[in-house]
Amino acid sequence: MIIAVASGKGGTGKTTIAVNLALSLENVQLVDCDVEEPNVHIFLNPEIFEIHSVKTVIPQIDKEKCTYCRKCSEICVYNALSVIKLGNYEKPHGEVVFFSHLCHGCEGCILLCPEKAINRGEREVGIVKIGKKENVRFIEGRLNISEILAPTVIEMAKSFINKNIPAIIDAPPGTSCSVVASLKDANFCILVTEPTPFGLHDLEIAYEVTKVLKIPSGVVINKSEDDTLIENFCQKNNIPILMKIPFDKKIAEVYSKGWALIEAFPEYKEKFLELFKKIKELQK
Ligand code: SF4
Ligand code: SF4
Repeated sequence: MIIAVASGKGGTGKTTIAVNLALSLENVQLVDCDVEEPNVHIFLNPEIFEIHSVKTVIPQIDKEKCTYCRKCSEICVYNALSVIKLGNYEKPHGEVVFFSHLCHGCEGCILLCPEKAINRGEREVGIVKIGKKENVRFIEGRLNISEILAPTVIEMAKSFINKNIPAIIDAPPGTSCSVVASLKDANFCILVTEPTPFGLHDLEIAYEVTKVLKIPSGVVINKSEDDTLIENFCQKNNIPILMKIPFDKKIAEVYSKGWALIEAFPEYKEKFLELFKKIKELQK
């Protein structure tokens, strides 16, 4: 079973839920798909024993074959190629300028070049780390600085999931293509929110994403106080509220020290086990 933990906005406690749920279970995988700013390792402190490079395809122009026809730059919707043509029909020369950071590795230019003048090159866009902390197998995707292909790194990280044991995915915040890549193929999505108008607004959007992806979901309310706004929304849309974590300064202090909640407050382990049980019940 793959359980994704998502939230419409950052700072709701999504990583807290993912880490503590994983630490409460016996044999589990925790996958940090928040590849632009992975932070699960801070709470888990795992031992890393494998690092894999994540690469994307890039075009490499063979100047001997290129006729500077501009077809490649015309088909590249990301404007990653620009062709400067000089000379005449019989003796063309010029330059194909490649903006590597705009390239999405779609290979369209390689396929459509009439002269077969574009070869497949490679560029690293991120890494995937594999490690372990006690009962938790740890997988982390990490996008290289200034790179844009977060979904490529997320897909690679997810490819290391062992399908025979439960996996918990810490998805990126928001509702972008990175979130969709993280949630795809999940059996269930925990939507973490706060009982504020902003929390509700972002929960509504995140819930829409799970509906489009046809992933069953439930809500965890973090910093729970007066939860009327969220409760009304969940009741109206028939979304189960699976757990509440109270608004408590002591919990914030534990978080700020990079500690796991169940280490500081062992009584929470039972609550996270209960959360897992409820999710399994909803799968039946
Ligand atoms: S499509 Fe091929 S031949 Fe035409 S400009 Fe691009 S690389 Fe050169
Ligand atoms: S691989 Fe795709 S995105 Fe990259 S330059 Fe070619 S057409 Fe553009």
